[in-house]
Amino acid sequence: MTNRRDFLRNAALLTAGGLLAGKTGKALAETVPATGAEASKLIGLQIYSLGKELYPDVAAGMKKIKDFGYSTLELAGYGDGKINGIDMEEFRKITEDAGLKIISTHVNPPVREYTEGNKGQIVDFWKKACDDHARIGVKYIIQPGQPSTRSTEEVAFVSEVFGEAGAVAQAAGLQFGYHNHEMEFARVRPGGTEAVFGRRGFGPDVKDAELIYDGLLKYTDPSLVFFELDVYWAVMGQVDPVEYLRKHADRIKVLHIKDRAVLGESGMMNFELIFKQAYINGIGDYFVELEGVRDITQFEGVKGCADYLKNAAFVK
Ligand code: MG
Repeated sequence: MTNRRDFLRNAALLTAGGLLAGKTGKALAETVPATGAEASKLIGLQIYSLGKELYPDVAAGMKKIKDFGYSTLELAGYGDGKINGIDMEEFRKITEDAGLKIISTHVNPPVREYTEGNKGQIVDFWKKACDDHARIGVKYIIQPGQPSTRSTEEVAFVSEVFGEAGAVAQAAGLQFGYHNHEMEFARVRPGGTEAVFGRRGFGPDVKDAELIYDGLLKYTDPSLVFFELDVYWAVMGQVDPVEYLRKHADRIKVLHIKDRAVLGESGMMNFELIFKQAYINGIGDYFVELEGVRDITQFEGVKGCADYLKNAAFVK
């Protein structure tokens, strides 16, 4: 069944003066820009959401994802030029055959402790990862794992390494981003030895303590590093994602739309306000992420998330 979003998109294409006459449905889908002004109509999926369920038959899985209403993908599972053991060019072909476009990827460098001694190794890792992803046309390369940050100085050093990764990505034609969980909303202080989480940790009374996330925003170069805000983990980190979107409209360019399990079911996420602010900010790309389903398959959960967004009046 054609939903409202597909109808509007197709109507917009048809008014383009019959340019698409004679092309196949697949060509039509490929004609839809995956980024920019049209992108707000496209629902993205982080493929980690499907876990192992995707891999017995990736081609069939991609067709299901497309049928659920997704248009763009963010990869997970990169390692040595492959995605979960599948050659990246092959992976791209399978997704494009299903009418999906890969625009983003999650990649973690091999170390969590960043030091002057291993900085070169981290930068070399990013060079290969960026080259591999540039070859398949990915736009964003995003680090989802938090390096160790126990003090303000470590946050500043990690930010410096992120900047180097950002420069490597830029040289390859990609944009480097950072994705949060909840522990980026712990606090550190100058000369500190641990990150302290929660209201009863370093409170506002400790004047030199700051949230790790705020430090990353402050110490990274905006021309080299952007942020993909995971709105669920922000809430779990005891901050308001809408407030962050308002304050950092220039830095948060992509979202992870996530709930405790299937979107909208927990009641703890105000997606209406989040989407409202995202549109004000001009955010075009976001990815649904699913974790935590119990009595249903991950495919069923991923479908449930798409249904929630397709039926939500606040999603354009
Ligand atoms: Mg996430």
